[in-house]
Order: sequence, then structure tokens, then C-alpha cells
Amino acid sequence: MDFEFSPAEQAFAAEVEQWLDENHDPVVMDLTRENFSQLCDTPERRAFMKKLSKKGWLGMTWPKEYGGQEAEGVYEFILNEALARRAAPQIGKGVGIIGKTLIRHGSEKLKQEFLPKIINAEVEFAVGYSEPQAGSDAANMQLKAEKVPGGWKLNGQKIWTTSAHFADWYWVGARTDPDKSKHDGISLFLLPMDAPGLEIQSMPTIGKDTTNQVFFTDVFVGDDYLVGERGRGFRYISEALDLERFTMFTFSPIEDRTKLLCRYVAEATRDGEPLKNDPVIRQQIAQLVTQTEVARVLGLRFVAESMKDGKPPTVESSKYKLTATQLSQRTANVALDIMGAAGQIQVDTEDAPLAGRFEGTYRCTVVETIGGGASEIQKNIIARRGLGLPRNF
Ligand SMILES: Cc1cc2nc3c(=O)[nH]c(=O)nc-3n(C[C@H](O)[C@H](O)[C@H](O)COP(=O)(O)OP(=O)(O)OC[C@H]3O[C@@H](n4cnc5c(N)ncnc54)[C@H](O)[C@@H]3O)c2cc1C
Repeated sequence: MDFEFSPAEQAFAAEVEQWLDENHDPVVMDLTRENFSQLCDTPERRAFMKKLSKKGWLGMTWPKEYGGQEAEGVYEFILNEALARRAAPQIGKGVGIIGKTLIRHGSEKLKQEFLPKIINAEVEFAVGYSEPQAGSDAANMQLKAEKVPGGWKLNGQKIWTTSAHFADWYWVGARTDPDKSKHDGISLFLLPMDAPGLEIQSMPTIGKDTTNQVFFTDVFVGDDYLVGERGRGFRYISEALDLERFTMFTFSPIEDRTKLLCRYVAEATRDGEPLKNDPVIRQQIAQLVTQTEVARVLGLRFVAESMKDGKPPTVESSKYKLTATQLSQRTANVALDIMGAAGQIQVDTEDAPLAGRFEGTYRCTVVETIGGGASEIQKNIIARRGLGLPRNF
């Protein structure tokens, strides 16, 4: 199997790199935000996305009738990885999750209202699936959507809604049919974040960024803002999660961190001895470099599989997410072990080795192995759907 990019793809990658050089902005591109750097949460970052949109790079894979270019997924992959490497905001939820789901399942009204705004970088979304009793078991969500004239009344709570504190719209799952089986009783809605009755409470994460709890008290959402068919929300959510596991956990920052650590080991000394001469460190580095290559190839396999029929492949998405996020965490662990006590000096502190980069990474990578479906859940998906093993509960 050929994992090299074609000449046209390589030319596009070069064009993206040049554009990013020309549009470099240290206020927008902050490597210490790690995976949260993908969010478009400040005026400067929104302005950057506008420029990306003007360049025609948002929604490249979408159908032409919705402003896309019908480009192959590999172009979006190249773009997103290049953005992630520079810690620039990424195509993320709007293009990758909400847009793609609306194109497949949304009404004409929702397509007309949201797709142009997404492609023009005029709207930011928060995604609300998780609740206190519905994380790994997302189908257990209890946010109640009760039918009222002209729409629905929502009551209950969400938790871990990243972006809720700055987003414009909420992509939210709720239980519309409590009498049906738990998977068939859920519907998806689009709701403005300033809807009366919606209360947002921010929560800090172990990384330096924020996620949120959201409380609903008699929040009204019109019939027109039901996404697709009533009761099919969980299917749409599952499909979107496959995209999320891939688009939200990019490979290039992992590769860069491995390279950074290799350079550190090549140059640093401990008690006058070069680190590169330590046989244990050499073994650890060799393992990380090999595992980084495995993650790279799994990412490319996901892209190749997606291009076959346009559907996100579930097992490939889980394999990639599991491997990439656990590798990220392992790299941070190894880096802190190698650096000893100095490795714990906080990010951006003077005299911290590598500006404290791995101290920050160490905290941030914990949340990556949970968000988008925890590692154990990815293993269950691979075991059941990939290997045909029986359920473990
Ligand atoms: C930083 C961050 C951002 C997030 N952003 C969002 C967001 O924007 N929108 C959103 O909807 N959600 C978001 N989440 C929520 C995330 O999807 C959930 O935290 C995740 O699905 C795990 O759910 P939980 O926290 O309820 O843990 P639980 O489901 O209670 O899991 C606890 C532990 O038990 C394990 N476990 C659970 N079930 C099984 C099983 N069947 N077999 C084996 N092990 C199991 C889990 O792997 C985990 O280790 C975010 C989470 C984090 C940390």
C-alpha cells in the first residue's frame, strides 16, 4: 500500500505551509494550549478562520451545491494537520461534524441557514452529548425534550460541553421519546446559545483550558431546528463521533513533540553525561519513534478508508484515537522521567527545560484520552466491531 502523497497533494501541502508562513500570528498560534488550540474562541482566532475561509479552504470536501469543492478527504486532512502543527484553530466542529451531518441528514432549511455560515466562518458551535449519568454510555442521556405547540421544551443538564462559553449555537442531543429503547428515544437539535432558560457554568480542566456545565430550564426550540428525523439522533451522534475522534485528535503535534524530545535527548546532559548515551533512554526513544510511525500510518489508513464510500469508518477511527492519544500521554510521561525534577517546572517559566512544554503536555494529554470517548470505550469498539468479540457486560 502506498502511503506517500501524490504530487498534487504535496503541492497543496506546500501551498498551505507557505500561506501559514505568510499568516503567522503568535497571538493566534499558541503551542502551549495543546489540543485546545483547535478552538476558535477569541476575536483574533475568528479573524484567522475568516482568512482561511476566504482562501476557500473551509468545507473543501463538501458538495459544490453547498459551497464545497468536492475535494477528496486527504486535502482536508493535510490542511487540518498543518493547522494543528502550528497550533492554529482548525476546521473542527463546524465543517467536520455539524456541516457534514447536516449535509447527510439535515432539512433544506437547516442546510440553507447553517452551511453558508459555516463555510464563511461566521458561526461557532458547542456539542452537547455528555451528562452526569451519560458519558461513555452517551445513549443514556436524560435531557428531556417535551413536545409543545410549534416545537419542544427542554429541561435537564449537560456536562463537559467544551466551547459553550463562547459558541453561537448548541448541537445538542435530548430524549424526545422516553417510551422507546434508549438508542431510539434520542433526537438532535440546534439551539442558539443565548436561548432563554439556558445557563452556562464554566469549569477549569487539568490542562489550562475550560469546559462547561449547561443547565436547561424550559428552553424552547422550534420544530424547524430538529436535525433529521425524530428518534434518529443517536445514529447521527455515533456517525459524528467517528469524525470527531479523527478530526479533533490530530497527529502532527504528536510527531512534533516526539521530534522535540529526540532533539533534547541528543543535546542535553545529566551529571555531565550525555543523555543520548543512556541505554534506557535510548530504548524509550526508539519505542516512541516507532509508535509515532504507527500512529501516522493509522491516521492515513483512516483517510484512505473514508475515501472509499465517504462514510467515516468506526473501527479505524477508534484505532487511531486510542493509539494517538495514548502515545501522546506516553511521550509526556517519558519526557518528564528523562528530565527529572526540572521537567515539572511549569510551562512558560524561565529556565524550565524546553520552556516547560512537556509539563503542560503532561496535564493536557490526560483529558485527550477521555474526551471524544475514553480509551476503554475505543478498545470495546475495536474488540466488538473490529474483532467480532462478545460484549464484556
Ligand atoms: C476536556 C473534555 C472535553 C469534553 N468535551 C465534551 C464536549 O464538548 N461535548 C460532550 O458532549 N462531551 C465532552 N466531553 C465528555 C467526554 O466525552 C466524556 O467525559 C467521556 O465520554 C467519558 O465519560 P464520563 O466522563 O462520564 O466517564 P465514565 O463514562 O463515567 O467513565 C469512567 C471510567 O470508566 C470507564 N468505562 C466506562 N464504561 C466502560 C465500559 N463499558 N467498559 C470499560 N470501561 C468503561 C471509562 O473508560 C472511564 O475510564 C469532554 C470531556 C473532557 C474531559
